Amino acid sequence: MFNNLSDKLDKAFHVLKGHGSITEINVAETLKEVRRALLDADVNYKIAKDFTAKVKDEAIGQDVLTTLNPGQLMVKIVKDELAQLMGGEASGINLSGNPSIILMSGLQGSGKTTFSGKLALFLKNKKSKQPLLVACDVYRPAAINQLKVVGEQIGVEVYTEEDNKNPVEIAQNAIKYAKANGKNTVIIDTAGRLAVDEEMMNEISNIHKAIQPQETLFVVDSMTGQDAVNTAKAFNDILNFDGVILTKLDGDTRGGAALSIKSVVNKPIKFIGTGEKMEAIDIFYPERMAERILG
Ligand code: GDP
Repeated sequence: MFNNLSDKLDKAFHVLKGHGSITEINVAETLKEVRRALLDADVNYKIAKDFTAKVKDEAIGQDVLTTLNPGQLMVKIVKDELAQLMGGEASGINLSGNPSIILMSGLQGSGKTTFSGKLALFLKNKKSKQPLLVACDVYRPAAINQLKVVGEQIGVEVYTEEDNKNPVEIAQNAIKYAKANGKNTVIIDTAGRLAVDEEMMNEISNIHKAIQPQETLFVVDSMTGQDAVNTAKAFNDILNFDGVILTKLDGDTRGGAALSIKSVVNKPIKFIGTGEKMEAIDIFYPERMAERILG
């Protein structure tokens, strides 16, 4: 995960770690390298620039040059700022409401269906919930089947209405079904498209208004870098969602999405997907991620 970024940051700190006496020039060089590493990871220019400006202020504030081990202190400052950039404190999901309703949004292929299953399994095993998965993709029969397969795999019931082409109705009926059948958590998987379009946005917005979920989660493929951030912005403008799910972090992702998304939409990353298996889900902890990036 983020191997390239880790390597580049490690190299950036070589300058500081190798010198007996550190000068302002060394610090400036390091900051330049840090910024380059962020840009290479597909973090947008403004975020990368603001980031290094903050690190610089912090380094001046803490009088880095006069400390015993300036290299170590700089690494710590960068680590703390990276954690801030990705969200600061970890935040959970809102499971109030009976049933609690969780709406999944995102583009096709982002990993919504897979993540819906992972979350259902997580809530069932870790929070002793009785989840109901709901298939609201009325365009692709394959998507409904995929959710059914996932449900079978994890032993979670899947609600479908294969002849109904109205996703709002399906979602509302599913919630009634959940209430009548002792399911206290409803996870609604919706239709995504390959790119943001008006029809998809209207549809998800209508579902959102009709069911008023406790949690609206935006699922995004971390491999898509700055595109991920633009898509997040489009969905957030319509849904004002509660949190982000970053999928495919097991792949060779550069890290841009993870590092930029919080600054752009000001919503926390709540979970990450780290593989195709149903167990490949982790709560997102910004500090641990920063720790991992800086090794
Ligand atoms: P949806 O169209 O948004 O519902 O996306 P899917 O859930 O169908 O996922 C699209 C593809 O990405 C599938 O082949 C999934 O197996 C794969 N996928 C989803 N999440 C992850 C992940 O965290 N890691 C990896 N490696 N693959 C994933």
